[in-house]
Amino acid sequence: MREESEGELKRVVIIGGGPAGLMAATQLLKSDCEIILLDQKASVGRKFLVAGDGGFNLTHSENKLELMEKYDSDWMKQAVRTFPNKDFIKFLKQIGIETKVGSSGKIFPEDEIKPIQVLNAWKQHLEGRVQFQLNCRFVNFEGNELIFERDGKTEKMSFDYLVLAMGGKSWPVTGSDGAWTQLFEQKGIALTPFQASNSGLVLYENWLGDLEGKILKNIRTSCGNQSCAGDLVCTNYGLEGKPAYAINGALRKMEKPLFKVDLKPQMPLQKVFEVLKKAKNPSQGLKELKLGEVAVFWIKNFVSKQRFLDPKELAKAIKEFPIGIKGFRPIEEVISCAGGVSGAEISESGELNKFPNVFVAGEMIDWDAPTGGYLIQGCVSSGFVVGKAIKLSMINE
Ligand SMILES: Cc1cc2nc3c(=O)[nH]c(=O)nc-3n(C[C@H](O)[C@H](O)[C@H](O)COP(=O)(O)OP(=O)(O)OC[C@H]3O[C@@H](n4cnc5c(N)ncnc54)[C@H](O)[C@@H]3O)c2cc1C
Repeated sequence: MREESEGELKRVVIIGGGPAGLMAATQLLKSDCEIILLDQKASVGRKFLVAGDGGFNLTHSENKLELMEKYDSDWMKQAVRTFPNKDFIKFLKQIGIETKVGSSGKIFPEDEIKPIQVLNAWKQHLEGRVQFQLNCRFVNFEGNELIFERDGKTEKMSFDYLVLAMGGKSWPVTGSDGAWTQLFEQKGIALTPFQASNSGLVLYENWLGDLEGKILKNIRTSCGNQSCAGDLVCTNYGLEGKPAYAINGALRKMEKPLFKVDLKPQMPLQKVFEVLKKAKNPSQGLKELKLGEVAVFWIKNFVSKQRFLDPKELAKAIKEFPIGIKGFRPIEEVISCAGGVSGAEISESGELNKFPNVFVAGEMIDWDAPTGGYLIQGCVSSGFVVGKAIKLSMINE
């Protein structure tokens, strides 16, 4: 049933035109093979563009070891070691995209470069060599045959290598709907259930007050071994912002999720105590500490009267303010998801142990990382590893 490929050329089919699939294709450009990229949407890179609507952190400028530490999976740490931020930045430069380092160390495209220009430059780099087949929905693979739907009809296509880079489950409107998980379960491939990651935190109603839109500035959240400084934004359901996203992993592990906020991280406990002790009353002390409206509301509503009146206890409460959460935002709304294909199911090169010549890359794999460029970096690193492995396999055959 092979729809003949040109001569003896090997055919690599990539499913999914997100950063992982695009980078896998990029690695194969110089190989003597046919490259076909299928996507169920009418255009590729839709989530990449959504990411561009926000900060569009393409990667982070940290050194390799610091970068690797941001990933919770050994597989992804190795992928990032193989293709780190510097290599991605070099690739972007090669396709005409200059980058800059933001004050927080995140890497952005230069000011005048829009996300669509980054995507177009990447597509142009691939065009001519990669056959893009859009509006094609992958359904299954059997042996070396791929089954997909186009215009409501089922079609088949043979492959020598198959790369599955269909993304996670957040923002399904961009095409990554997680529907592939059913097929993987049927095929006996172990998956970790998807969970919201880099998600806002949903608080109990009594914590919300009239705080919507207010910002809790310069605080530090901590939970387990995760901690992050920055600003939290109050919404009508809870909290958004990097210090909320960064502790998702530790919160997910807790039966009754609870985190702590240091409401005055710039000042040590002893100094906070001294300011409170000198003040004529606790409310005046809070003013002198320049705590904002949200912090004062929470302290006044959730610290017992006895602790409030004792400067030592109040200082402790300010430095380690505990907040229990009701949960996370629905997976459809969040930036990324944890979960996916278990690391035990894939080789070092991302090949499925049970299905030789079938590889997975990007958010389909079970790994988690904070926002700030680490997500796109993880996706391109995994795409690189998979593309390189296929390239080597073709040379060695
Ligand atoms: C709001 C938001 C902001 C973000 N901001 C950032 C940021 O600033 N920095 C950062 O590093 N990351 C950011 N991210 C995360 C980043 O965009 C993702 O981690 C990344 O796009 C995932 O890449 P991927 O290649 O694994 O999958 P995706 O980009 O999700 O691509 C998967 C592709 O597979 C296709 N597909 C799925 N199923 C099928 C099927 N059955 N048949 C055919 N095609 C299929 C989809 O149509 C899609 O094109 C953000 C994400 C969101 C939602």
